[in-house]
Amino acid sequence: KTKELIGLEALIRWVDPTQGVISPLTFIPLAEETGMIGKIGDWVIRKACEESAWLQDAGFPHVKVAINVSAYQFRHGDHLCKVIEESLALTKLRADCFSVELTESILIEDVESTVAELKRLKALGITLAIDDFGTGYSSLSYLKRFPIDILKIDQSFIRDILVDENDKAIVTAIIAMAHELGLTVLAEGVETTEHRNFLVQQHCDFAQGYLYCKPKPAAELLEFWKADSLVL
Ligand code: CA
Ligand code: CA
Repeated sequence: KTKELIGLEALIRWVDPTQGVISPLTFIPLAEETGMIGKIGDWVIRKACEESAWLQDAGFPHVKVAINVSAYQFRHGDHLCKVIEESLALTKLRADCFSVELTESILIEDVESTVAELKRLKALGITLAIDDFGTGYSSLSYLKRFPIDILKIDQSFIRDILVDENDKAIVTAIIAMAHELGLTVLAEGVETTEHRNFLVQQHCDFAQGYLYCKPKPAAELLEFWKADSLVL
């Protein structure tokens, strides 16, 4: 409604000199299998902080950068917390400019230790979000127990929101429920102004998707923004 830019999501791509851009769908499962996901995850956190600090220094708005966290990273004691804390300190990025996205399947695994880990992350002053909401267990009871800030509605519900009555009902219900629980709602996969208008009508707080910008390297994003191409 206010057309204000509130954040970015950091996405990983592997650029190989001969094969070109390799999709994370190809290499992330392999990285998880081999345990390399731990090192890659640490690198992503550091890189997201560095590039955000760089963007801000170059005049980009001071908005949040969100990173995606794997089960491996989330279930590794206080390592995740330490890496985030170190990266923020090193890059001087403010904690309120950093957000962590976790899927339902990661959170539901061991509720007691999940609550403890989320509290530890929350104490850093960062934002916590549930990713791809609606595709996993969508348990309402844990939404109340976990110190979560943002609910991200999965893109599969948004795509046909104007024509599919079920999707419309599900999204409307998620927004209302999340607001009742004091959560902020973000809709993923927003591709058209019709999507956006519907979501504004339903009082959805935030939207993300190709309507605004396709994924870009940080330097390109800066140029895109400077050229006033970011249509909100
Ligand atoms: Ca995500
Ligand atoms: Ca997502």
